[in-house]
Amino acid sequence: EVRVRFAPSPTGYLHIGGLRTALYDYLFAKNKGGKYILRIEDTDRTRYVDDSIENLIKSLEWSGVVHDEGVFIENGEIVQKGEYGPYIQSERLDIYKKYIDDLIEKGHAYYCFCNKERLDKIREEQKEKGLMLGYDGYCRNISIEEAKKRIEAGEEYVVRLRLPENRDIVFNDLIRGEISINTSDLDDQVLLKSDGFPTYHLAVVVDDHLMKITHVVRGEEWLPSAPKHAYLFEAFGWEAPEFVHLPTVLNKEKKKLSKRHGDVAVEDFRAKGYLPEGLINYLALVGWSPENNQEFFTMEELEKEFSFDRVSKTGGVFDKDKLDWVNGHYIRESDIEILTELAIPHLIQAGYITENDVENRYEWIKTLVSIVQERLSYVGEISEKVKFIFNNEVDFEIKEAREVLDGEQVPSLLDAFKEELELVDEVDEEFTNGIMKKIQKKTGVKGKNLFMPIRVALTGQQHGPEMDKIILVLGKANILERIDYIKN
Ligand code: GLU
Repeated sequence: EVRVRFAPSPTGYLHIGGLRTALYDYLFAKNKGGKYILRIEDTDRTRYVDDSIENLIKSLEWSGVVHDEGVFIENGEIVQKGEYGPYIQSERLDIYKKYIDDLIEKGHAYYCFCNKERLDKIREEQKEKGLMLGYDGYCRNISIEEAKKRIEAGEEYVVRLRLPENRDIVFNDLIRGEISINTSDLDDQVLLKSDGFPTYHLAVVVDDHLMKITHVVRGEEWLPSAPKHAYLFEAFGWEAPEFVHLPTVLNKEKKKLSKRHGDVAVEDFRAKGYLPEGLINYLALVGWSPENNQEFFTMEELEKEFSFDRVSKTGGVFDKDKLDWVNGHYIRESDIEILTELAIPHLIQAGYITENDVENRYEWIKTLVSIVQERLSYVGEISEKVKFIFNNEVDFEIKEAREVLDGEQVPSLLDAFKEELELVDEVDEEFTNGIMKKIQKKTGVKGKNLFMPIRVALTGQQHGPEMDKIILVLGKANILERIDYIKN
C-alpha cells in the first residue's frame, strides 16, 4: 500500500509551496488508493511558533487537502489518529533515543564533544583555505566507554553520523532519476542535539521507516539531505522509501516565493477571498501538467490524472495573474449564497454595509454581490467593484461616457424615468421589467439611444452589469438623487 506523508514544521503558517507539496502527496496517495499522513516535525525548538499546528491544519482543511492519518483538530483540540503514532515528533523522543543508541552500538554514530568555539574556528579555517565546510571528524575515535565517562562527568555532547570514507551513495529520485554522491562531499551530520532532541535527519528517517512511508515527497530544498537519509536507512538496515523531490515554487522573477514579495501564506489567500477550488486547481498546475490542455480540474479529476511522470524537474512559476484568472472561473461558477457569505466581511470592512443590513437586507446584499460576480477574480476585490453603487455623485471614468449625456434626448429620458419612479414606493422586479418599455413609449427613443444614457447616468460607465439589478440595488431614492445630480 502506498503511504505518503506531509511533514511540516510548525514555524508559523502554511506556505503556498507547502500546500503544493501537500497537494501532490494527497493526489498521489488518492491516485494509488493509498494513505496520506500528516506528521508534525517540531524538533527544532528554536523555530517553534505557538498555534502553528492549528493554523496548518485549518489551512489544509480549508483547501480540501485532507489527510487520512496523523494529527487533526477536533472541537478545538489537537488529536492524533492512526496506528503509527504519535505523529508529533516531540512526543517521540524515547523512540529516537532507542534508535540512536542502536546506531552508536553498531558504530554508525559517535558522541562528539566539540564546543561552539571549536566548531566556529574550524569553519573559519575551512573558509580561509577554500575547503568544503563541515565537521572535521575530531571526535570520531573517542571510544564509547570514554565518551560515557565524559557524559557522566557532565560534559555536553551531540551524536554524529559516522559516514564511511570515500563511498558513493546512490539513490533514486522519481523525478530526477539516479543520484550518486561520494561521502567525501558530505560531512558527519549531527543526529542528536545537545538538548536531547533529534535533528530533522534522524527523526525523518526513523519516522518514515516506522510509519511505513513508501514515498518521501518533499520540496527540492531537501535534495542535499537525501544522500544522508539514504545512508541512514542503510546503516539501520532498513529498506529506503522512494524519494520524490518537487521543483520549488518560484515567483515571476524565478526566485523562491518569499514573504517579502507579497502573499505566501495560504491564510492570506483565504482572507483575500480566493476559493479553495481555485487555489488548488491553480497550484496543481504549478509544476505538474496534464496530458491534454485541460485547464480546469475538480479535485476528483486531479486525483485521477495526477502522476509524478508529468511533474517538471525545473521550478514551477507561481503567476498571480494566472491564479486570478483560474479563481475568477470558480467565482463565476460559485453559488451566490457562498459568495455573499464571503463578501459580507469585506463589505462591512469597507463601510458599505453594517451587521444590521446583514440581518435585515440579506436579499439586497445578495443582489449587490451578484451584480459584480462576473467581474471578480477574488472576493476581496468586491469593495472596489461595487464602489459606484455607494456614490450618488456619479463618477465618469472616461470623457466619452460623460459625452453620452450631452445627447439631445437625454433630458426627456431622465424626466420620463423620474416620473415613473415617482409613481412607485420602491423599485421592484415588476418595475425593472417594465421601465425601459415605458420610457420608450413616453419619449419615442429606443435601442442603444435609450439604454446607454440611462446606464451612464446611473453608473458613470458605458459598460457594466445588468441594468435591472443595478436599478434594484440602487433603489428609488438613490436613483432620483443620481438623476438630479446629472441634471444640475
Ligand atoms: N519538516 C520538513 C519541512 O518543514 C519536512 C521535510 C520532509 O518532508 O522530509 O519541510
